[in-house]
Order: sequence, then C-alpha cells, then structure tokens
Amino acid sequence: MSSAEHIKITVENIEDSRLPQVDFSNLKFGQFMSDHMLVANFDNGKWENVKIVPYGDLSISPSMSALHYGQAIFEGIKAYKFPDGRVSIFRPDKNWERFNRSASRLCMPEVPQEIFLDGLKQLLSLDKDWVPNQEGTALYIRPFMFATEAALGVHPSKSYTFAIITCPVGAYYSKPISLKVETNYVRASEGGVGFSKNAGNYALSLYPTQLANNQGYDQIMWTDAKEHRFIEEAGTANLIFRIGDSIITPHGETILHGVTRRTIMELAEKWGFKTEQRLVSVQELIDGIESGEVSEAFAAGTAATVTHIDRIGFNGTDYTLPPIENREFSNKVLNYLNELRYGRIDDPFGWNFII
Ligand SMILES: *Cc1c(COP(=O)(O)O)cnc(C)c1O
Repeated sequence: MSSAEHIKITVENIEDSRLPQVDFSNLKFGQFMSDHMLVANFDNGKWENVKIVPYGDLSISPSMSALHYGQAIFEGIKAYKFPDGRVSIFRPDKNWERFNRSASRLCMPEVPQEIFLDGLKQLLSLDKDWVPNQEGTALYIRPFMFATEAALGVHPSKSYTFAIITCPVGAYYSKPISLKVETNYVRASEGGVGFSKNAGNYALSLYPTQLANNQGYDQIMWTDAKEHRFIEEAGTANLIFRIGDSIITPHGETILHGVTRRTIMELAEKWGFKTEQRLVSVQELIDGIESGEVSEAFAAGTAATVTHIDRIGFNGTDYTLPPIENREFSNKVLNYLNELRYGRIDDPFGWNFII
C-alpha cells in the first residue's frame, strides 16, 4: 500500500442534521444520503486533504478525465445495527482489497487503509444514527474514486478524488428473479476489466438488460465472450448453483469476485457441502434443470444477499426451477447471514467489523 503515515482526517460537523426528515418506515434505495461524507484528494503522488464534511455537491471541471475516459471505480458495502445498538460493517477489508485491485487495473492510485477503513469507521461513528434497525434494513456504503485531472489528453490522470457516501436502505424483500441467457452481448472478456468494479461495466450492461426486460426477464445471465457457452454472472451479482450434492459457482478471470459469493462458498464448505469453483456450461445447467439435478440457483451480492432464480430463458425456451421453499441450502445460508450480520449469533469468523 502507498505510504500513509500520519494521515490526518479533519472533521466538519453538519449544523442541522437532516435525520428528522427521513421516514425510516419507507426507505427507497439511494434516496436519503446521510449527513456526512468522507472526501480525499490525490495529487502530486500522494493523498492529502482527507476530511469528513457535510454531504453536498462537489465541484468538477468540464474537462475532468473521468467524464471523458472513464477512470471511475466504486464499492458497495453494508453496515447493520445490533440489538444492543452497536453498528457493524460486514467484511469491509475484502472490499478495500478489491477496490485497490480495481484501482491498479485502471492505473489509479491505491487508497491506504487509514483512509478507506479507518476513515469509514470514523464516518460511521459520526453518522451511526443513520443506520436503521428494523429487520432487513441496513446502511448502504458507497466508496468511490474518479479521475479529476482537467486535461483532454489520453493518459492516466495525475489527480483523483476518493469519497465515501452512505444511505439507509429499506428491507429488501427479494422476489425470485428470471434470467435470460445472453448469447449476443458480452459483459467481460479475458484480458478485460470484468473483474474490477468500474463504472463502465455497468454502463455497458444497461442496453442488453433493457432488451431482456422487454422480453419479460428481470436480468441477464452473462456467458463467456468467445463462445457464449459458459455461464459467468447474473446481472450485477454472482451466481451459485446446487447441482447434485455440490455447491458450485462459475470460475474465471472475467468474473467479479464478490464478497457475498466468497462468504457463501466458505460457509458451504464449513457446513460440509462439497464446493466447486469451475466452468459451468449453459448446456449442463439446462440438462440439470430438466433432470432435476439442479435443485437450487441464486444470485449473490451485497444488495440482496441471496436472490432466488425461478426461471431461465435460453434460445426461446423457458426452464423453471424447483419451488423456493424446497431450497435447503439457499434458505439456510440467507438465514444464517442475517443472524450473523445483525449480531444475533456469535461471529466465529471475525467478519463483523464493529464500530
Ligand atoms: C458488486 C458486484 C457483484 C457482487 O459483489 P459483492 O461483493 O458480493 O457485493 C457481482 N458482480 C458484479 C458485476 C458486481 O459489480
């Protein structure tokens, strides 16, 4: 990590908290931002001017390179409130590591632990009352970085802004989703940037997703760029299947390595399931649904944790998966993760990062 001795974070408190304006019983995703944000600038080869300030607009140059050439990355993390009122962030160290892998791929500077993790902790201790406490709710945390050099030349920017904003999110009652196997458009290719959480990965997914929506599917099941033969991800979440007695997640360098996917695979292994990270072909999945070998399929990500999949469309035919209530592993893992993240059971793994 870049040298970060003596990074000082200055704090400017908000005068009037906006908290009284928030209706916690009716939260829409990303609607109310918490009172404070963390902002840091990278310039002349180092991080400086690290501060926590009231949430508000940033001023940018029209020639700022992120707007033109897309050096922009982000993370998504959640914090939960324990029954005793303590606030806990789920595995943010993994997001920090991934953020810096994304940064390296896009020629952006790494963000030191003192700013990303210690800064986040300080931000949340200030805004801890923004963490909702009803079942299913959380504080969504969005760290991000973008290139700020005001110059139209194509080269890695010399300056960057890193920021963390947060917002309370309501209970996510995840309905089962339908997926269309995508055999025309591509999310990521070998040698590309699919493994990194960069803004462009989302921009390119919007149009194919819109087409799939128009055909009656909620999301896309992405396949490999060369042959469209192997399964990669579901929309912007990872995929996990139960095939026979194995818990299986697609493998490959184009896949974004989700913290939720990793967590669920670690739990599966601990619980004595056979686990595999390997290529899964569309044909294997379709044959397995028809034979009954594929008993569970879900998308895994920070937003919904586990989103059951009930229907998969491939080449004009729809394949229906077994009823949700029969899905032993997916329901068990979702329930366990809820208990753990809300601090209602012991945390034997050290995954809860308590403020
Ligand atoms: C963020 C993301 C995921 C899920 O990662 P988590 O760390 O579990 O939230 C999966 N796929 C893509 C493309 C993503 O951007």
